[in-house]
Amino acid sequence: MHTGNSLKIGQALCTPGFYPAIVASRIPTVLWRGPDVKTGMPASLSPSQALPGWRLEHSYARLPELFHKPWKLAPVRAPRLVMLNRPLARTLGLDPDVLEREENAAVFAGNKLPDGATPLAQAYAGHQFGNFTGLGDGRALLLGEQITPEGARYDIQLKGSGRTPFSRGGDGRAALGPMLREWIISEAMHALEIPTTRSLAVAATGEWVERKERLPGAVLTRVAASHVRVGTFQWAAAHEAPDALQALADYTLRRHYPDLAEAGNPALALLDAVLERQAELVAHWLHVGFIHGVMNTDNMTLSGETIDYGPCAFLDHYDPATTFSSIDRGKRYAFANQPGIAQWNLARLAEALLPVLHPEQTRALDAANAAIHAFPDRFKRHWLAGFRAKLGLFTEEADDEKLSQTLLDWMEKTRADYTNTFLALSAESALETAHSADPAFGEWHAQWRARRSRQPQTGAEVVRLMRTRNPAVIPRNHKVEQALSAATDHDDLAPMERLLAVLAQPYAPGSVPPPEFLEPAPPSDTPYQTFCGT
Ligand code: AMP
Ligand code: MG
Repeated sequence: MHTGNSLKIGQALCTPGFYPAIVASRIPTVLWRGPDVKTGMPASLSPSQALPGWRLEHSYARLPELFHKPWKLAPVRAPRLVMLNRPLARTLGLDPDVLEREENAAVFAGNKLPDGATPLAQAYAGHQFGNFTGLGDGRALLLGEQITPEGARYDIQLKGSGRTPFSRGGDGRAALGPMLREWIISEAMHALEIPTTRSLAVAATGEWVERKERLPGAVLTRVAASHVRVGTFQWAAAHEAPDALQALADYTLRRHYPDLAEAGNPALALLDAVLERQAELVAHWLHVGFIHGVMNTDNMTLSGETIDYGPCAFLDHYDPATTFSSIDRGKRYAFANQPGIAQWNLARLAEALLPVLHPEQTRALDAANAAIHAFPDRFKRHWLAGFRAKLGLFTEEADDEKLSQTLLDWMEKTRADYTNTFLALSAESALETAHSADPAFGEWHAQWRARRSRQPQTGAEVVRLMRTRNPAVIPRNHKVEQALSAATDHDDLAPMERLLAVLAQPYAPGSVPPPEFLEPAPPSDTPYQTFCGT
């Protein structure tokens, strides 16, 4: 067995200590219902007949026992639905009118199982800031996989649902603010067309959780293509369980890459496919200025979805060294490090897969090495394709990377706002006239103009392409904080509702959101900080 790791069950670096649950006296009382899109779904039946539409299956539970532990709900004092994602509910084949009824708050708070649910905690390991640790769902329960009317399969997971056998010192709980934060950022990512887990509901628990201060507790219902992570494979490898590893590889291939099931070397095809999706994903993050913040191997999915919205945040001014996470003092997960870290994480996946890549270890190693070493080129291809679109370039020229990098260097030097610089360039008036008086920018602008003159597309076409990749809005850190503080300190969800409405349309042509959502945070003496495991 070649993993280079020995399994160490210990305290995670990104985990709070033990916090007893305390009853909360004040929690928000408003239910946010989300934008409602009427579909052809039949009107709800009378309360006694109404069923939400759960169609839960349990393919993951059929994997070897190594990967999961059946577990139970840990009821909370006073469940109350705070957020319900009605459009997402409909996509899942669930009736939002029924879900919104009082009795379903108990489902979303983890007091009552939805029809057909068989809760389990998933086992996995992970490299956290480079250190290998045994982890597992310490505060989450997989209820099952919802089969949508289209036949797609999505994990339905409660996060913050209480202690499990993997909780170690933690209380198994989550606070309302961070769960609402996950909602805002994950829904913004979805609107930015970046693969992501999503948020179906947030329920308040009526209990306090103790962090640095006492905070109202909540449970988030997370929806994911699956929760199979690099760390799930590391768990199998560290246990030296080749049959379990093979079963997991087969399962992941069937669930996420069914077309590759017949490949000559399915495990290698899986590794290649994951490398491709992650290269594209991380390139997408860089295109919109997203910093994940905690790219531990347990937070990297095999499906290629962004997962784990703890300390993530978006750049304001362009600085490739930006980190927001309070614990990332070595800047391991800084903005520009993300492609390199993705490759590092995927090398851990390749190591875990070695026993199923080839029966001869040297052949397995050669295949893994070749796949991992090809990652930078894969990433560059996606990064450059996105940058060409960001700059309105339809054709490919050898110097396009240099043109992109020169602009980024100028932005770094002048601390230009990342989102607003690209947005300003995406106006027809900006194609001919430089919007900065800085001669260095003027020089770059002249090169950009010359480059565009060598392609046949009109200005209108260029702008249209640019607006598909240059969002008008991102979740600005100060706007997110304002919305969260209104929700958690003043029971007021209106600012969050306004923010979500604006974030839902980042690429809408011709629509200009109110300036308050476009402006970077006002200068402050204290740099913005984010936290994980909260
Ligand atoms: P994360 O930082 O969210 O990726 O979490 C890392 C690990 O810590 C995972 O195994 C989580 O399940 C666990 N964890 C995070 N918060 C808690 C908590 N409050 N109680 C128990 N386990 C937790
Ligand atoms: Mg995690």
